[in-house]
Amino acid sequence: MNHYDLLLIGAGHAHLGVLRRWARLERPPGRIALLSAGHEAWYSGMLPGLLAGRYAAADCQIELAPLCRAAKVELIVGQVEALSAAQQQVQLSDGRGLNADWLALNVGAQVFRPPQAGAGMQVLAVKPFADFLAGWQRWQADPQPMAILGGGAAGVELALALADQVPQLALFCRGPLLAGHSAGLRMRALGLLRQRGVRVREDCPISRIDDDCLVSGEAPVWRGQRLLLASGAQALPWLAQSGLDSDADGFVQIAATLQSLSHPHIFAVGDCASLPGARKSGVYSVRQAPVLAANLNAALRGLPLRDYRAQRQSLALLATGDGGALLSWRDCSAGGQLFGRWKDYLDRGFIQRHRLSG
Ligand SMILES: Cc1cc2nc3c(=O)[nH]c(=O)nc-3n(C[C@H](O)[C@H](O)[C@H](O)COP(=O)(O)OP(=O)(O)OC[C@H]3O[C@@H](n4cnc5c(N)ncnc54)[C@H](O)[C@@H]3O)c2cc1C
Repeated sequence: MNHYDLLLIGAGHAHLGVLRRWARLERPPGRIALLSAGHEAWYSGMLPGLLAGRYAAADCQIELAPLCRAAKVELIVGQVEALSAAQQQVQLSDGRGLNADWLALNVGAQVFRPPQAGAGMQVLAVKPFADFLAGWQRWQADPQPMAILGGGAAGVELALALADQVPQLALFCRGPLLAGHSAGLRMRALGLLRQRGVRVREDCPISRIDDDCLVSGEAPVWRGQRLLLASGAQALPWLAQSGLDSDADGFVQIAATLQSLSHPHIFAVGDCASLPGARKSGVYSVRQAPVLAANLNAALRGLPLRDYRAQRQSLALLATGDGGALLSWRDCSAGGQLFGRWKDYLDRGFIQRHRLSG
């Protein structure tokens, strides 16, 4: 069993921010490692642009080895299979075991997958991104009608990015399209999707896949052979079984200091954590980074921790697949090429800030 003073698990948005800060300023003392499923971190904000052909894969990735070297943190590439909160220990899928005095979890979430009977439909989940992109390349070579599950920002961006590449595209939403966003943004998105020939089905939760058919309640609602899942965040099963206190959906319950409510030596941030007021989006994870960096430093030095306060509003910029973007801020919405250029500037800036060499 390999022992660390601190183990950062998952190369999510917040951990990238922590490493960037430690590369610039002093890092906490002790043996520290980042455990990541891959050698690169994918930036989800640019994924729709990659699918629309506006970016190359390399534009949307951050190499972890140079960032870790600059932060003087060991990089371990491996997939967590189990976590024991009581023993502060992780088991990797290749059989390795690691434990640490302090752990930080930034492992994101998986997408909801309806139960499936029969093999009439191929199903591709948008996460993990590397698997999704490999699957999408195969589908792209042989275009066929497709349905997307998920009427949130990710589902809308994917539908707009792929509308020109798929002969018939349908988008299924559990409730209204872009629930929780302003009415103006919803109307703009609906208009664009219709203009691009995407069939939008609102208030149509998919309960199961029966061979080549999507079923809502007991009613068949779509027939086809390809389904793309962008259907909301679900807790990773190994987290729900870790012994950490979790909310009703299996996400780790944390205090304002970002520590687990049940196991204060374990921090959790981003989509895998549950804190009133913090939404499941990359923006919130990014904003947790400075507090996490400060609190991990304080924890390792035995100093007092500070509180994170979630911002009440966040700006949303949704890529429209043609270089433009839709903007939503409070009750206001707007759209056009100018916002697309702004989103591109912000997204490239995020990647650039984390491209450090050690
Ligand atoms: C198409 C799309 C577009 C999006 N666009 C935006 C956007 O523009 N703005 C925005 O705010 N949000 C956006 N989101 C949502 C955003 O992706 C997530 O909310 C965000 O990624 C969550 O960040 P995180 O820091 O929690 O973890 P993530 O960024 O999801 O990172 C989790 C990390 O943990 C790793 N991991 C997972 N399981 C394991 C394991 N078992 N072992 C080891 N490592 C593991 C993963 O490989 C990954 O590196 C988008 C989502 C999608 C699908």
